[in-house]
Amino acid sequence: MTQTDLLKTECSKCAALCCIALAFDKGPSFAFDKNPGEPCRNLTGHKCSIHDDLTPSGFAGCVAYDCLGAGNRVVQEVFGGQSWQKDPRLLRPMMESFAGMREVHKRIDLLRAAEILPLDKVDDQRRRDFLAQLEQKRWSGAELNDFEVGLALEIDVFFHSIRKHLKPPFPVADWDSALG
Ligand code: SF4
Repeated sequence: MTQTDLLKTECSKCAALCCIALAFDKGPSFAFDKNPGEPCRNLTGHKCSIHDDLTPSGFAGCVAYDCLGAGNRVVQEVFGGQSWQKDPRLLRPMMESFAGMREVHKRIDLLRAAEILPLDKVDDQRRRDFLAQLEQKRWSGAELNDFEVGLALEIDVFFHSIRKHLKPPFPVADWDSALG
């Protein structure tokens, strides 16, 4: 899988994981409240029944959201193309894996973005090593569940150590909000 492909969201290869896992509040971006883990009431099977009219229907937030390929990677790589639709017992582990994979892909995105920073040789090699670990690994559900209390912490410590290089025009605010 190429770098570009890895973070490319392909909804047709997913099982509508974001439409179940994520919470949103009624407001300018969403027309009603939804709790995490609750299937959106606009969901029919794996498809959004208002897909072509999201913004006029009050769901601009759905248009803006991008899982960075985490959903399709979970369904295809971790669950071999299976869906909670056919086997409802998969719903919970799929939600958990999706949460973990979102964290993995968020850090892949940041590690790639850090390529333009003036890192010394040691730090740049660490950046490449972390990236290779995240991109090349074939993740299991258990490994994704452990990610945030293991490797993610190591990577975040690394991010803080190179923070001194973050200056405009590098999107410092994006970096902070991604890590926040
Ligand atoms: S409105 Fe459509 S795209 Fe947005 S969460 Fe609901 S089903 Fe998914």
